[in-house]
Amino acid sequence: MTDFTHKLLDGRQIAAAMHETIHEDAAALKESGWPVRLVSIAVGDSKPAELYIRNQARIAEKVGIAFEDRFYPDTTGADELLGIIHGLNVDPRVSGVIIQRPLPKHIPVRAVQRAVHPFKDVEGLHPASIGDIVYNDLVMGPCTAVAAVEILKTTPLKLEGLEVVVIGHSEIVGKPIAFLLMGAGATVTVCHAMTRNLAIHSRQADAVFVAVGKPGLVTAEMLKPGAALIDIGINQVSLPDGSAKVVGDADFDSCVAVAGWITPVPGGVGPVTVATLMRNAVRAASLQRAAYEKSFATTEAVYLN
Ligand code: NAD
Repeated sequence: MTDFTHKLLDGRQIAAAMHETIHEDAAALKESGWPVRLVSIAVGDSKPAELYIRNQARIAEKVGIAFEDRFYPDTTGADELLGIIHGLNVDPRVSGVIIQRPLPKHIPVRAVQRAVHPFKDVEGLHPASIGDIVYNDLVMGPCTAVAAVEILKTTPLKLEGLEVVVIGHSEIVGKPIAFLLMGAGATVTVCHAMTRNLAIHSRQADAVFVAVGKPGLVTAEMLKPGAALIDIGINQVSLPDGSAKVVGDADFDSCVAVAGWITPVPGGVGPVTVATLMRNAVRAASLQRAAYEKSFATTEAVYLN
Protein backbone atom coordinates (compact mmCIF):
# COMPACT_ATOMS: atom_id res chain seq x y z
CA MET A 1 0.00 0.00 0.00
CA THR A 2 1.26 3.48 -0.88
CA ASP A 3 2.28 5.67 2.03
CA PHE A 4 0.59 9.08 1.77
CA THR A 5 1.70 10.38 5.17
CA HIS A 6 3.74 13.18 3.57
CA LYS A 7 0.51 14.65 2.13
CA LEU A 8 -1.22 15.00 5.49
CA LEU A 9 -1.79 18.46 6.91
CA ASP A 10 -1.50 17.54 10.56
CA GLY A 11 -3.83 19.82 12.51
CA ARG A 12 -2.56 18.56 15.86
CA GLN A 13 0.98 19.59 15.01
CA ILE A 14 -0.09 23.02 13.72
CA ALA A 15 -2.19 23.52 16.87
CA ALA A 16 0.70 22.48 19.14
CA ALA A 17 2.89 25.22 17.67
CA MET A 18 0.09 27.77 18.20
CA HIS A 19 -0.37 26.60 21.80
CA GLU A 20 3.21 27.58 22.65
CA THR A 21 2.76 31.20 21.57
CA ILE A 22 -0.69 31.43 23.17
CA HIS A 23 0.73 30.06 26.43
CA GLU A 24 3.43 32.75 26.46
CA ASP A 25 0.96 35.51 25.64
CA ALA A 26 -1.55 34.33 28.27
CA ALA A 27 1.23 34.18 30.89
CA ALA A 28 2.35 37.73 30.02
CA LEU A 29 -1.22 39.01 30.30
CA LYS A 30 -1.64 37.29 33.66
CA GLU A 31 1.64 38.79 34.86
CA SER A 32 0.34 42.25 33.96
CA GLY A 33 -2.88 41.70 35.91
CA TRP A 34 -5.09 40.57 33.00
CA PRO A 35 -5.55 36.80 33.39
CA VAL A 36 -7.41 35.35 30.42
CA ARG A 37 -10.71 33.73 31.35
CA LEU A 38 -13.36 32.16 29.14
CA VAL A 39 -16.96 31.44 30.05
CA SER A 40 -18.77 28.76 28.04
CA ILE A 41 -22.57 28.78 27.99
CA ALA A 42 -24.58 25.69 27.06
CA VAL A 43 -28.38 25.69 27.19
CA GLY A 44 -30.62 22.64 27.28
CA ASP A 45 -29.40 19.25 26.15
CA SER A 46 -25.63 19.65 26.26
CA LYS A 47 -24.88 16.15 24.90
CA PRO A 48 -24.07 17.27 21.31
CA ALA A 49 -21.69 19.95 22.61
CA GLU A 50 -20.14 17.95 25.47
CA LEU A 51 -17.13 16.70 23.53
CA TYR A 52 -16.38 20.21 22.22
CA ILE A 53 -16.69 21.72 25.69
CA ARG A 54 -14.37 19.10 27.19
CA ASN A 55 -11.85 19.70 24.42
CA GLN A 56 -11.97 23.45 24.84
CA ALA A 57 -11.53 23.10 28.63
CA ARG A 58 -8.55 20.75 28.16
CA ILE A 59 -6.75 23.03 25.71
CA ALA A 60 -7.55 26.13 27.78
CA GLU A 61 -5.87 24.51 30.76
CA LYS A 62 -2.88 23.57 28.61
CA VAL A 63 -2.31 27.15 27.44
CA GLY A 64 -2.96 28.76 30.83
CA ILE A 65 -6.45 30.14 30.20
CA ALA A 66 -9.15 29.81 32.87
CA PHE A 67 -12.29 28.09 31.58
CA GLU A 68 -15.68 28.11 33.27
CA ASP A 69 -18.36 25.86 31.77
CA ARG A 70 -21.90 26.88 32.60
CA PHE A 71 -24.94 24.75 31.85
CA TYR A 72 -28.42 26.27 31.86
CA PRO A 73 -31.68 24.30 31.69
CA ASP A 74 -33.87 24.00 28.60
CA THR A 75 -36.39 26.27 30.32
CA THR A 76 -34.00 29.24 30.17
CA GLY A 77 -35.76 32.02 28.25
CA ALA A 78 -34.15 34.13 25.52
CA ASP A 79 -34.36 37.32 27.62
CA GLU A 80 -32.83 35.55 30.59
CA LEU A 81 -29.93 34.37 28.42
CA LEU A 82 -29.42 37.86 27.00
CA GLY A 83 -29.34 39.15 30.60
CA ILE A 84 -26.67 36.57 31.52
CA ILE A 85 -24.57 37.59 28.51
CA HIS A 86 -24.94 41.25 29.40
CA GLY A 87 -23.66 40.44 32.91
CA LEU A 88 -20.60 38.72 31.40
CA ASN A 89 -20.03 41.64 29.01
CA VAL A 90 -19.65 44.08 31.88
CA ASP A 91 -17.67 41.72 34.13
CA PRO A 92 -13.98 42.69 33.85
CA ARG A 93 -12.94 39.21 35.04
CA VAL A 94 -14.36 37.65 31.88
CA SER A 95 -12.25 37.90 28.72
CA GLY A 96 -14.51 35.99 26.36
CA VAL A 97 -17.89 34.30 26.01
CA ILE A 98 -18.53 31.08 24.08
CA ILE A 99 -22.11 30.20 23.12
CA GLN A 100 -22.25 26.44 22.60
CA ARG A 101 -24.47 25.22 19.79
CA PRO A 102 -27.05 23.92 19.28
CA LEU A 103 -29.25 26.22 21.33
CA PRO A 104 -32.86 25.22 22.05
CA LYS A 105 -35.30 26.24 19.29
CA HIS A 106 -36.96 29.00 21.34
CA ILE A 107 -33.66 30.92 21.55
CA PRO A 108 -32.76 33.03 18.49
CA VAL A 109 -29.09 32.19 17.81
CA ARG A 110 -28.27 35.37 15.94
CA ALA A 111 -29.68 37.63 18.65
CA VAL A 112 -27.53 35.78 21.17
CA GLN A 113 -24.40 36.10 19.01
CA ARG A 114 -25.14 39.82 18.62
CA ALA A 115 -25.48 40.21 22.38
CA VAL A 116 -21.86 39.23 23.08
CA HIS A 117 -19.73 42.40 23.18
CA PRO A 118 -17.41 42.50 20.13
CA PHE A 119 -14.40 42.77 22.52
CA LYS A 120 -15.48 39.45 24.11
CA ASP A 121 -16.54 37.76 20.89
CA VAL A 122 -13.89 35.03 20.95
CA GLU A 123 -15.89 32.90 18.50
CA GLY A 124 -15.75 35.74 15.97
CA LEU A 125 -19.44 35.48 15.14
CA HIS A 126 -20.69 38.97 16.06
CA PRO A 127 -21.71 40.99 12.97
CA ALA A 128 -18.85 43.40 13.84
CA SER A 129 -16.31 40.57 13.71
CA ILE A 130 -17.74 39.25 10.44
CA GLY A 131 -17.71 42.82 9.07
CA ASP A 132 -14.02 43.18 9.97
CA ILE A 133 -13.26 40.23 7.71
CA VAL A 134 -15.04 41.88 4.79
CA TYR A 135 -12.81 44.92 5.35
CA ASN A 136 -9.79 42.61 5.50
CA ASP A 137 -9.13 43.73 9.07
CA LEU A 138 -8.82 40.51 11.01
CA VAL A 139 -9.11 40.90 14.77
CA MET A 140 -11.08 37.94 16.08
CA GLY A 141 -12.34 35.95 13.10
CA PRO A 142 -14.71 32.96 13.16
CA CYS A 143 -12.49 30.17 14.53
CA THR A 144 -13.19 27.39 12.03
CA ALA A 145 -12.83 29.63 8.98
CA VAL A 146 -9.61 31.19 10.29
CA ALA A 147 -8.25 27.74 11.19
CA ALA A 148 -9.00 26.30 7.74
CA VAL A 149 -7.19 29.17 6.02
CA GLU A 150 -4.24 28.94 8.46
CA ILE A 151 -3.86 25.29 7.50
CA LEU A 152 -3.67 26.14 3.80
CA LYS A 153 -0.98 28.70 4.66
CA THR A 154 1.24 25.90 5.97
CA THR A 155 1.55 24.55 2.39
CA PRO A 156 4.01 26.13 -0.08
CA LEU A 157 1.06 27.41 -2.16
CA LYS A 158 1.08 31.17 -2.64
CA LEU A 159 -2.36 32.60 -1.91
CA GLU A 160 -2.08 35.55 -4.31
CA GLY A 161 -3.87 34.54 -7.48
CA LEU A 162 -4.53 31.00 -6.25
CA GLU A 163 -7.67 29.40 -7.71
CA VAL A 164 -9.74 28.26 -4.75
CA VAL A 165 -13.14 26.61 -4.55
CA VAL A 166 -15.11 26.78 -1.31
CA ILE A 167 -17.93 24.25 -1.09
CA GLY A 168 -20.54 25.33 1.46
CA HIS A 169 -21.57 28.95 2.10
CA SER A 170 -22.76 29.07 5.70
CA GLU A 171 -22.33 32.31 7.66
CA ILE A 172 -19.93 30.78 10.15
CA VAL A 173 -17.73 28.68 7.87
CA GLY A 174 -17.99 28.91 4.06
CA LYS A 175 -18.65 32.64 3.61
CA PRO A 176 -15.94 33.81 6.02
CA ILE A 177 -13.44 31.41 4.42
CA ALA A 178 -14.22 33.00 1.05
CA PHE A 179 -13.68 36.52 2.42
CA LEU A 180 -10.45 35.58 4.20
CA LEU A 181 -9.10 34.04 1.00
CA MET A 182 -10.11 37.04 -1.10
CA GLY A 183 -8.35 39.23 1.45
CA ALA A 184 -5.21 37.16 0.88
CA GLY A 185 -5.45 37.65 -2.89
CA ALA A 186 -6.96 34.30 -3.96
CA THR A 187 -9.50 33.97 -6.76
CA VAL A 188 -12.46 32.38 -5.02
CA THR A 189 -15.45 30.44 -6.33
CA VAL A 190 -18.13 29.62 -3.79
CA CYS A 191 -20.31 26.54 -4.40
CA HIS A 192 -23.37 25.48 -2.45
CA ALA A 193 -26.46 23.30 -2.51
CA MET A 194 -27.76 24.96 -5.67
CA THR A 195 -24.51 24.79 -7.63
CA ARG A 196 -25.30 22.85 -10.81
CA ASN A 197 -22.09 20.97 -11.38
CA LEU A 198 -19.72 20.97 -8.44
CA ALA A 199 -17.00 18.98 -10.20
CA ILE A 200 -16.67 21.49 -13.05
CA HIS A 201 -15.65 24.09 -10.50
CA SER A 202 -13.65 21.94 -8.10
CA ARG A 203 -11.51 20.45 -10.88
CA GLN A 204 -10.19 23.92 -11.74
CA ALA A 205 -9.04 24.62 -8.21
CA ASP A 206 -5.53 24.64 -6.72
CA ALA A 207 -7.19 24.37 -3.32
CA VAL A 208 -10.61 23.08 -2.30
CA PHE A 209 -12.31 23.82 1.02
CA VAL A 210 -15.35 21.71 1.84
CA ALA A 211 -17.77 22.52 4.70
CA VAL A 212 -21.11 20.87 3.97
CA GLY A 213 -21.82 18.01 6.37
CA LYS A 214 -22.15 15.23 3.77
CA PRO A 215 -19.71 12.31 3.97
CA GLY A 216 -18.17 11.32 0.63
CA LEU A 217 -19.30 14.51 -1.16
CA VAL A 218 -15.83 15.20 -2.60
CA THR A 219 -14.25 12.35 -4.51
CA ALA A 220 -10.91 11.98 -6.28
CA GLU A 221 -12.45 12.66 -9.74
CA MET A 222 -13.49 16.11 -8.51
CA LEU A 223 -9.94 17.21 -7.78
CA LYS A 224 -7.15 18.56 -9.93
CA PRO A 225 -4.08 16.39 -9.29
CA GLY A 226 -1.85 18.02 -6.69
CA ALA A 227 -4.58 20.31 -5.28
CA ALA A 228 -4.82 21.00 -1.55
CA LEU A 229 -7.99 19.71 0.10
CA ILE A 230 -9.11 21.21 3.39
CA ASP A 231 -11.94 19.12 4.78
CA ILE A 232 -14.00 20.90 7.43
CA GLY A 233 -16.92 18.48 7.59
CA ILE A 234 -17.59 16.49 10.74
CA ASN A 235 -19.93 13.54 10.22
CA GLN A 236 -20.61 10.54 12.39
CA VAL A 237 -21.13 7.42 10.28
CA SER A 238 -22.01 3.88 11.35
CA LEU A 239 -19.76 1.05 10.31
CA PRO A 240 -21.05 -2.42 9.29
CA ASP A 241 -19.95 -3.82 12.67
CA GLY A 242 -22.27 -1.34 14.40
CA SER A 243 -19.52 0.95 15.69
CA ALA A 244 -19.39 4.67 14.82
CA LYS A 245 -16.67 6.69 13.15
CA VAL A 246 -16.11 10.40 12.53
CA VAL A 247 -15.36 11.32 8.92
CA GLY A 248 -15.17 14.53 6.90
CA ASP A 249 -16.97 15.54 3.70
CA ALA A 250 -14.33 14.05 1.42
CA ASP A 251 -13.88 10.42 0.48
CA PHE A 252 -10.46 10.41 2.13
CA ASP A 253 -9.15 7.15 0.68
CA SER A 254 -9.68 8.17 -2.94
CA CYS A 255 -8.81 11.87 -2.49
CA VAL A 256 -5.52 11.27 -0.70
CA ALA A 257 -4.10 9.59 -3.80
CA VAL A 258 -4.86 12.60 -6.04
CA ALA A 259 -4.50 15.60 -3.71
CA GLY A 260 -1.15 17.25 -3.06
CA TRP A 261 -2.10 17.96 0.54
CA ILE A 262 -5.10 16.86 2.56
CA THR A 263 -6.44 17.35 6.09
CA PRO A 264 -7.40 14.20 7.97
CA VAL A 265 -10.70 14.05 9.89
CA PRO A 266 -10.35 13.94 12.84
CA GLY A 267 -7.00 15.62 13.48
CA GLY A 268 -7.16 18.31 10.78
CA VAL A 269 -9.23 21.48 11.09
CA GLY A 270 -10.69 20.59 14.53
CA PRO A 271 -7.57 21.05 16.70
CA VAL A 272 -6.60 24.26 14.86
CA THR A 273 -10.13 25.61 15.44
CA VAL A 274 -9.76 25.19 19.21
CA ALA A 275 -6.28 26.75 19.13
CA THR A 276 -7.74 29.70 17.19
CA LEU A 277 -10.43 30.10 19.86
CA MET A 278 -7.70 30.32 22.51
CA ARG A 279 -5.71 32.80 20.43
CA ASN A 280 -8.87 34.90 20.11
CA ALA A 281 -9.24 34.77 23.91
CA VAL A 282 -5.74 36.24 24.29
CA ARG A 283 -6.58 38.91 21.69
CA ALA A 284 -9.83 39.69 23.52
CA ALA A 285 -8.01 40.18 26.84
CA SER A 286 -5.42 42.40 25.11
CA LEU A 287 -8.16 44.52 23.52
CA GLN A 288 -9.87 44.94 26.88
CA ARG A 289 -6.61 45.92 28.55
CA ALA A 290 -5.90 48.47 25.82
CA ALA A 291 -9.41 49.94 26.12
CA TYR A 292 -9.04 50.16 29.91
CA GLU A 293 -5.66 51.85 29.68
CA LYS A 294 -6.97 54.27 27.09
CA SER A 295 -9.88 55.26 29.28
CA PHE A 296 -7.52 55.92 32.19
CA ALA A 297 -5.01 57.80 30.08
CA THR A 298 -7.56 60.59 29.83
CA THR A 299 -8.66 60.53 33.47
CA GLU A 300 -6.08 63.05 34.61
CA ALA A 301 -7.19 65.56 32.02
CA VAL A 302 -10.83 65.02 32.96
CA TYR A 303 -9.99 65.47 36.66
CA LEU A 304 -7.94 68.61 36.14
CA ASN A 305 -10.73 70.16 34.13
P1 NAD B 1 -24.52 24.44 7.22
O1 NAD B 1 -25.52 23.34 7.26
O2 NAD B 1 -24.82 25.74 7.87
O3 NAD B 1 -24.16 24.74 5.69
C1 NAD B 1 -24.00 23.72 4.77
C2 NAD B 1 -23.59 24.31 3.44
O4 NAD B 1 -23.43 23.24 2.51
C3 NAD B 1 -24.62 25.25 2.82
O5 NAD B 1 -23.95 26.35 2.27
C4 NAD B 1 -25.27 24.40 1.71
O6 NAD B 1 -25.72 25.20 0.64
C5 NAD B 1 -24.10 23.54 1.31
N1 NAD B 1 -24.51 22.27 0.67
C6 NAD B 1 -25.43 21.39 1.09
N2 NAD B 1 -25.49 20.34 0.24
C7 NAD B 1 -24.59 20.57 -0.72
C8 NAD B 1 -24.17 19.86 -1.88
N3 NAD B 1 -24.73 18.69 -2.21
N4 NAD B 1 -23.22 20.40 -2.65
C9 NAD B 1 -22.63 21.57 -2.33
N5 NAD B 1 -22.97 22.29 -1.25
C10 NAD B 1 -23.94 21.79 -0.45
O7 NAD B 1 -23.18 23.80 7.78
P2 NAD B 1 -21.90 24.43 8.55
O8 NAD B 1 -22.31 24.90 9.89
O9 NAD B 1 -21.17 25.36 7.65
O10 NAD B 1 -21.04 23.09 8.74
C11 NAD B 1 -20.59 22.35 7.63
C12 NAD B 1 -19.81 21.15 8.11
O11 NAD B 1 -18.66 21.61 8.82
C13 NAD B 1 -20.57 20.23 9.08
O12 NAD B 1 -20.16 18.90 8.87
C14 NAD B 1 -20.09 20.70 10.44
O13 NAD B 1 -20.15 19.67 11.41
C15 NAD B 1 -18.66 21.04 10.12
N6 NAD B 1 -18.05 22.01 11.05
C16 NAD B 1 -16.78 21.75 11.46
C17 NAD B 1 -16.15 22.61 12.32
C18 NAD B 1 -14.73 22.32 12.74
O14 NAD B 1 -14.21 22.92 13.67
N7 NAD B 1 -14.03 21.41 12.06
C19 NAD B 1 -16.82 23.75 12.79
C20 NAD B 1 -18.11 24.04 12.30
C21 NAD B 1 -18.70 23.17 11.42
